[in-house]
Amino acid sequence: MIDTEIIELNKYFAPEQIIKAAQALKSGELVAFPTETVYGLGANAFLAHAVQKIFEVKGRPQDNPLIVHLHNPAQLSEVAKNIPQITYLILNEFAPGPLTIILEKTDKIPAQVSAGLDTVAIRFPNNDVARTLLSLAEVPVVAPSANLSGKPSPTKAWHVYQDLQGKIPYILDGGTCTYGLESTILDLSVDQPVILRPGIITAKDIKQRAGIEVIEPERLDQNLKHPKAPGQKYRHYSPMAPVVILQEESNLEKRIGNLKHGIRDFVKNYDSDQKDLRIGLFLAEDLVNSFDLEKLTKSLNASTCYKLHFQIESYNNDQGADNAARELYNQFRVFDQQKVDLIICSAEPNLGVGIAYMNRLSKAASYNI
Ligand code: AMP
Ligand code: MG
Repeated sequence: MIDTEIIELNKYFAPEQIIKAAQALKSGELVAFPTETVYGLGANAFLAHAVQKIFEVKGRPQDNPLIVHLHNPAQLSEVAKNIPQITYLILNEFAPGPLTIILEKTDKIPAQVSAGLDTVAIRFPNNDVARTLLSLAEVPVVAPSANLSGKPSPTKAWHVYQDLQGKIPYILDGGTCTYGLESTILDLSVDQPVILRPGIITAKDIKQRAGIEVIEPERLDQNLKHPKAPGQKYRHYSPMAPVVILQEESNLEKRIGNLKHGIRDFVKNYDSDQKDLRIGLFLAEDLVNSFDLEKLTKSLNASTCYKLHFQIESYNNDQGADNAARELYNQFRVFDQQKVDLIICSAEPNLGVGIAYMNRLSKAASYNI
């Protein structure tokens, strides 16, 4: 066990507040820090023993490669070689930001970083704390999400503390992450660029802003064992309770009907000695406002041997806001703390980040209703 210090940083933090963490990072310790996507668990990318600690602390499978985080474009040639010209067009538009690119790696990158591949994943995060930490540390930093393997990625500092307290010396607390979903991963080491993991930045954004055609993630979904995306085969983002997706229906009545049926079916098949059954609902505000939960609870309680309790968390999706995405992982952890037996989340394919949201939700979910 080591002492874990949480360093709280507000918008006006001073670089001096994170110097000791940056020095620890540079010298081989692990430091958790906020990015605009999720919290990262950083290690000096050039020190094999520091990189190794990440796998141990997270319980991460060794064949799941890591993303190298940079703050200065000049660092690119240290970590990647034979860089195709389109890389610069793409970075010019999207760096710093929530886009990870795959390029051929240099010999300076230890084999653990790339899980033995000859390519490396690279990102320039766009978060003041992350950028200051990277510039003070002066080295490329590998940083997977700062959670135990298999758990939802952390989007707040307490999520990191929950998983990694006593295992790492510093957590930089920069508040809630802006997006709350992991970066888009774009493979530029192949002739036809391809998105290996959907994220905030979509194929459409890349086409519109950089004029570059990339293969869409949907097409790749049929081939999830794509050898270039080794880590994608692992189970991710999962809370303890089973997750169920309430499918999108244009007709609100039909969705509410599906929700009721889904709950009834779950309760009917539930087999436990416990009397109370807790269900977490993570639903859009308009849906929550359009049914009477008390009435539903009463009717369900009358027809089963369990006493049902609902924990409802709603989000506002007006104007295509991505609130659901920002809150999803936090809500998984909150539901875990509330010891719910089932989690029901609305499908949200029409969000700005709908493809990425549905990708993460599907990975966490057991079935649809
Ligand atoms: P995370 O677990 O969120 O840190 O994301 C890391 C993911 O990036 C891995 O699970 C891989 O899917 C992907 N990745 C990292 N390096 C490479 C690489 N060299 N080639 C392809 N995918 C990579
Ligand atoms: Mg992760």
